[in-house]
Amino acid sequence: MIGCDCAVCRSTDPRDRRTRPSILIEIANSAISSEIARATRSVLVDTSTDLRAQALARGIRRVDAILFTHSHADHIMGLDEVRRYNVLQKGPIACYGDGRTLADLRRTFEYVFASTPVASGGIPELRLFTLGGPFSLGGIEFVPVPLMHGQRTILGFRVESFAYLTDCSRIPEESWPLLDGVRTLVLDALRDRPHPTHFSVSEALDTVARLAPERAYFTHICHELSHAETCARLPAGVELAYDGLVLNV
Ligand SMILES: [Zn+2]
Ligand SMILES: [Zn+2]
Ligand SMILES: [Zn+2]
Repeated sequence: MIGCDCAVCRSTDPRDRRTRPSILIEIANSAISSEIARATRSVLVDTSTDLRAQALARGIRRVDAILFTHSHADHIMGLDEVRRYNVLQKGPIACYGDGRTLADLRRTFEYVFASTPVASGGIPELRLFTLGGPFSLGGIEFVPVPLMHGQRTILGFRVESFAYLTDCSRIPEESWPLLDGVRTLVLDALRDRPHPTHFSVSEALDTVARLAPERAYFTHICHELSHAETCARLPAGVELAYDGLVLNV
């Protein structure tokens, strides 16, 4: 937190140094049967404000597709940085989101989507696709999962036995069946105190209890939660995620 001297902001535990929420899904080559599908193997979820620093820190060399959960600033403001992947991969990047999110991207990044190309170049080359339901990337099915983020409906994503549900204050009734059988869950848990647009830790634990995954990781954590102290009081199979966490699913 800018200008904060609390114990978490001054912590020397690297897991307390948190950048904005985003994940990269890398599809193992062995999972991909067709040559065409093999072209997509690295799927980014959201382009966070910290995308550049995250990509440098983790040595991310490919982004074949981008899924957007919603258009809040912390989830989209790194979009311009993906032009480096256009150069590396010599092609456009497909972006997927709901209608509202894509409209917000067109407005926020007007210079990227303007019909007359910027003369000097140097802008990302993107193709936008509106999500209407499950879709296939890299030979694997991705399922958008509608979530309530305060009053707004946003998207989580399910991929096989894995689900990524950030920025969530309620899971609507019709979305629960889409999460049946999830074994690895990443879920919003902002802090202990209630918040109008994010699950608190106890609300997130209620959700974990209902979904009963094998393991759950909380994300979108604010500086009110110390990594070590919070993990120590969470039930078995539930922990806080941290920057650089790698999960094999
Ligand atoms: Zn702080
Ligand atoms: Zn949000
Ligand atoms: Zn957010």
